[in-house]
Amino acid sequence: MAVKPFKNEPLTDFTRPANRKAMEQALAKVRSWMGREYPLVIGGEEIRTNDLLKSTNPSRPSEVVASFSKADAALAGKAIETAAATFGTWKDVDPKKRADYLFKAAALMRKRKHEFSAVMIYEVGKTWPEADADTAEAIDFLEFYAREMLRYAGKQPLTKHPQEKNELWYIPIGVGVVVPPWNFALAILTGMTSAAVVTGNAVVLKPSSDSPWTGWMFFSLMREVGLPAGVLNFVAGSGGSVGDVLVAHPKTRFVSFTGSKEVGIHINELAAKVQPGQRWLKRVVAEMGGKDAIVIDDQTDLAAAVQATVASAFGFQGQKCSAASRAIVVASVYDKFVALLAEKVNAIKVGVSDDPANYMGPVVNKASRDKILQYIDIGVREGGRLLTGGKAEGEGYFVQPTVIVDVAPTARIAQEEIFGPVLAVIKVKDFDEALAVANNTEFGLTGGVWTKNRKKIEKAKKVFHVGNFYANRKITGALVGVHPFGGFNMSGTDSKAGGRDYLLLFMQAKALSEKVR
Ligand code: NAP
Ligand code: MG
Repeated sequence: MAVKPFKNEPLTDFTRPANRKAMEQALAKVRSWMGREYPLVIGGEEIRTNDLLKSTNPSRPSEVVASFSKADAALAGKAIETAAATFGTWKDVDPKKRADYLFKAAALMRKRKHEFSAVMIYEVGKTWPEADADTAEAIDFLEFYAREMLRYAGKQPLTKHPQEKNELWYIPIGVGVVVPPWNFALAILTGMTSAAVVTGNAVVLKPSSDSPWTGWMFFSLMREVGLPAGVLNFVAGSGGSVGDVLVAHPKTRFVSFTGSKEVGIHINELAAKVQPGQRWLKRVVAEMGGKDAIVIDDQTDLAAAVQATVASAFGFQGQKCSAASRAIVVASVYDKFVALLAEKVNAIKVGVSDDPANYMGPVVNKASRDKILQYIDIGVREGGRLLTGGKAEGEGYFVQPTVIVDVAPTARIAQEEIFGPVLAVIKVKDFDEALAVANNTEFGLTGGVWTKNRKKIEKAKKVFHVGNFYANRKITGALVGVHPFGGFNMSGTDSKAGGRDYLLLFMQAKALSEKVR
């Protein structure tokens, strides 16, 4: 059967009563699963340990949503050995068959999409629309990478040679350690893992300790669609201990990481060290943090610019690598922008994420909330003025949407990733200075400009050094296939997830040449 062209999964319209009802039912169903204990799975074998990782609901921290057996160093090693053994057979499975597992998983995930979203609403504090978008993106990755594998499995173009028959095959590389973050708990985990698997590699998946339940949902879906045992191994456990064993193992061929700059740097260093018995240099794909900026020019629709800034800064509590954490505003419209911004931000409702009346839910955990509140203090101590925000009341890890104005471009809150609902507003004299300030961090992930001036847009397209540039729209919400995603400098290795180059990171090309005359 011919495969239809890829198209993005539509988002759910929760203003429609039928859709609201469907989500409420999914929330109730998922709630009835809460409190269960889940094993590690290595080579199809379920393994339970005495050391449990408890995943909690950040809206109501006393609520344990699921518990997971934690791996130790020995089990982590066993997972790599098992994957290495499975790679021996999986690598030769027809790419079409490998793609079929992804197509089947996409179909099932679509059918149960609200259940996947409900797990994230409870486990990481996503609101309904944020969770729905996360699940839609996960479906997109499955559909997109399955098609991409079919493309790469096809005949590759080479220059003709009169006496030779030449071919180029893309073959898998080996055992991959996949280490995703909790913030796109389903989408990023699904994208990284499915890309590694569909290209013929065997994987050890270590979910984030903040979102193992969501990771489990994906793992068990792949098991359900019949992915052979050992191709995907599920190993929960702490990044610090288990992560190092997985990364350093001599049979690990590549590490696919998305998370913070600090951990990315550490993994890169550790993976670079060749271990006794290791027969290759490890590949590391590391997608890391951001300090993303929106530039507001004087020639713009300010109300629309404010709207986009608010969506970019406070969607999922600012916990997106793409989130706007700096608004860089041209002086002549600065006061007006700040006034409009205050009005919009003060109208935001913060509360438990399963209640769709709340625009913002909690931040992911206590450490994160404490760090965000500390940054707010630092911002004020360094001379910023707290326009609105700070700690929010309630049992959950709530933080008000926070805006600090009159921030110096070199202040810590203008340079360091906070990963929470904190927006630094910076005043500049003109558009050129705005671009200079925008580029003046070690990161380079997303960025955008708001201006009606065509020349300024064209200039920004060249000058603004980010992997994903946006004009006159929000700077979050990259779509698979539409906006291949990945950043420059300390934002990572620019893997362009959801793009046509992505699967190459999981394969090597073999050139075959045969003399025919
Ligand atoms: P994180 O703290 O760096 O953790 C990411 C993953 O790394 C988790 O699974 C973590 O496991 C694991 N880990 C920690 N130490 C490790 C080690 N020594 N070896 C191997 N793995 C280790 O990041 P996060 O808090 O989950 O995610 C937020 C960060 O991700 C932000 O910086 C954000 O900007 C970035 N991000 C980037 C992108 C992008 O595309 N560029 C997308 C999304 C998020 P534990 O949970 O067990 O510690
Ligand atoms: Mg949690």
